[in-house]
Amino acid sequence: MARIVVTGGAGFLGSHLCDRLLGRGDEVVVLDNLVTGSMANIAHLDDHPGFRFERQDVSEPFDVPGPVDAVMHLASPASPADFTRIPIDILNVGSRGTEHGLQVAEAKGARFFLASTSEVYGDPLVHPQPEHYWGNVNPIGPRGVYDEAKRFAEAMTMAYHRLKGTDVRIVRIFNTYGPRMRPEDGRVVSNFITQALRGDPLTVYGDGSQTRSFCYVDDQVDGHLALLDGDVTGPINIGNDGEFTMLELAQVVIDVIGSSSEITFEPLPADDPTRRRPDLGQANAALGWKPQVDLRDGVARTAEYFAAVLAR
Ligand code: UDP
Repeated sequence: MARIVVTGGAGFLGSHLCDRLLGRGDEVVVLDNLVTGSMANIAHLDDHPGFRFERQDVSEPFDVPGPVDAVMHLASPASPADFTRIPIDILNVGSRGTEHGLQVAEAKGARFFLASTSEVYGDPLVHPQPEHYWGNVNPIGPRGVYDEAKRFAEAMTMAYHRLKGTDVRIVRIFNTYGPRMRPEDGRVVSNFITQALRGDPLTVYGDGSQTRSFCYVDDQVDGHLALLDGDVTGPINIGNDGEFTMLELAQVVIDVIGSSSEITFEPLPADDPTRRRPDLGQANAALGWKPQVDLRDGVARTAEYFAAVLAR
């Protein structure tokens, strides 16, 4: 049993992580400024004796009274729609927020867990992407605010590890989806599912030939826990290595939902990566972890959630 601080714990991924930590008997302190997170994601945890929520922007220095065994830094907007809406918040939480989390971890003798991203690989010239690939990122493009903040975050995490001996873990998260994504999030899975449920056209950007590899949230959280509990620093890719074009994804969503929606084409955003798929060799060898949920099953589970949200 441990006492774990989760920054961004009211967010999509963070709230699922809290459920799992509490479920196995850990205590959880959530710090979240609710810029993209939501109290609705953690409302069911309100009465749990091991759960505490503090409204806190971790881009400002913070302290956590009492003992802490791990600081898990998940706080960050992650949708490309947010990259243009709140770019400075994203830069701050990736840079200042990461150092503030590291400072707390160091002061408490706690493990620091960084939620990094496949975006550190940018528009990758190596495919699939292994952890030793350094990436192809445009620092001044619209995605640079997220990519470079996370690259800085990894560098800062490794600097604390090397200079101060802080015990650290770094996960590189590939496109993850599931219940508790915001309907208006702007990412492709939530867009397609809400469009298909409403009978609206699915908005494919560009010609839809770009690829992504989609990981169901339960698998992602399993990977987080395996990395947190294990003795490998990382960075380690966690994602699903099934690779789909956006046109294929649109068809899967339409089929699974049984929707009458059509497909429309919209302009491709700047610097949109042409392909992305994790090399999961390390995750499998070092953590014994593999994704379990396939795309159709995950889309069905997510569609059930969005149908309930849209009905309200
Ligand atoms: N995309 C799309 N239609 C949408 C939203 C996104 O075709 O309504 C595309 C987007 O251009 C990208 C892919 O889907 O190629 C994944 O986009 P997302 O925003 O989910 O995440 P990314 O992997 O780009 O960060």
